[in-house]
Amino acid sequence: VARSALAMSTSLALVRATLVTMDPARRIVEGDLLVEGGRIAGIGGPFPDADTTIDAAGTLVVPGFVQAHVHLCQALFKGLAEETDLLFWLREKIWPLEAAHDTESIVASARLGLAEAIRNGTTTLFDMGTVRHTDGVAEAAVESGIRVVVGKALMDQGAGVPANLRDDTRTALAGAEAIVRRWHGAEDGRIRANLAPRFVLSCSRPLWEGVAALAEAHDVSIHTHLNESPGEVAEIESAIGAATVAWFDELGILSPRFVGAHGVWFSDAERALLAARGARIAHCPSANFKLASGACDVRALADAGVVVGLGADGAPCNNRIDPFAEMRLAGLVSRWLRKDRALSAADVVALATIDGARALRWDDEIGSLEVGKSADFVVVEQSGAAEAPLAGTDPYTALVYHSSAAAVRTVVCRGQVVSHRGRVRAWDDDAIVADAERRRVEVVRRAGLDALLARAGA
Ligand SMILES: [Zn+2]
Repeated sequence: VARSALAMSTSLALVRATLVTMDPARRIVEGDLLVEGGRIAGIGGPFPDADTTIDAAGTLVVPGFVQAHVHLCQALFKGLAEETDLLFWLREKIWPLEAAHDTESIVASARLGLAEAIRNGTTTLFDMGTVRHTDGVAEAAVESGIRVVVGKALMDQGAGVPANLRDDTRTALAGAEAIVRRWHGAEDGRIRANLAPRFVLSCSRPLWEGVAALAEAHDVSIHTHLNESPGEVAEIESAIGAATVAWFDELGILSPRFVGAHGVWFSDAERALLAARGARIAHCPSANFKLASGACDVRALADAGVVVGLGADGAPCNNRIDPFAEMRLAGLVSRWLRKDRALSAADVVALATIDGARALRWDDEIGSLEVGKSADFVVVEQSGAAEAPLAGTDPYTALVYHSSAAAVRTVVCRGQVVSHRGRVRAWDDDAIVADAERRRVEVVRRAGLDALLARAGA
């Protein structure tokens, strides 16, 4: 798909495609996709009257991928916090680094993270952010051309929280509301905002109560971390004298607006309660394994009726923002945990597309290829050595197990090409990489962690 072709035409037909629709019947359609005015106007075809026709033979066309849990502010810290568990990773590395961000460094980080995500097929990204400089993340999101839900992380207490990341409760809530008022619905609806209380250990009860009230008042999502690692679960239970899920329910936190990242450690009763309240989970398998947190049983969540999306989490705990890497691992983890009750490859593609859209309550617009929805889609090459031979190959298996982000040809959001053959439209790669290198050194020095700049492994 040539960049100029889409931008200049009023209608476009992708022809001879294999459309992995992720519609309610999970139809695979061999045919054409018609795009008009940024929306999907037809599926199947033929559409001989389209202004522009592009041959998509030998590709799979899938809905744009939804990243349901990311920290764009951490893209700059990739590789600086290796080989630790969650709480040490946060307190000794990540929080001090986040505390040292300024606007220039956070913009550099967000551009770097977004460029990687977009190149790899992401068209919607649900961010946690950090406590400061949320406007910088949002401004990079505006430049990116994709859908981003920005959040100001909220922290008003907690061991190991740097002073610069801690607000008093009223300031935290006022700051969160200001972000919602400025960004929710911006750019013709492409930018949204969430409320991002970081996790129980860093947020007081009055802060949670305030978040519940703001979420309802503004009808925005609550984005937090939930039952990620055994150490975190144990610290929380001794801090609040209760299990998080039950405590959240008592405070009115759980609802369809709730998106809890990770959700590795639940009882059956907790899964049932999450489902009853309509709460959503963002499964982050790479981060769970890299931080040695555990293996989330998505089948158990799905059986209980919980909507689950898929996320990369922050760059330093993955270290990729890549839906293909996450899909493959989600499939493998589920196979290992549940054997013949494992998620199918189609279920895994759903996590990364329509179920992620549901988790963000954006499935009226995105998540599947259906007439009337936004033209957010990814063209994935299937004619390379990694994907061939094609005769009889199940498209879902091809996407989850043998394709990679290297097979992404074109990424389209709202009918606009945002990446083509590895080139992200919004920015010059060399410029954002050079800026990221410079800003990373500055942030690490401001954090007083200069030792991190000495190459490890010597
Ligand atoms: Zn996270």
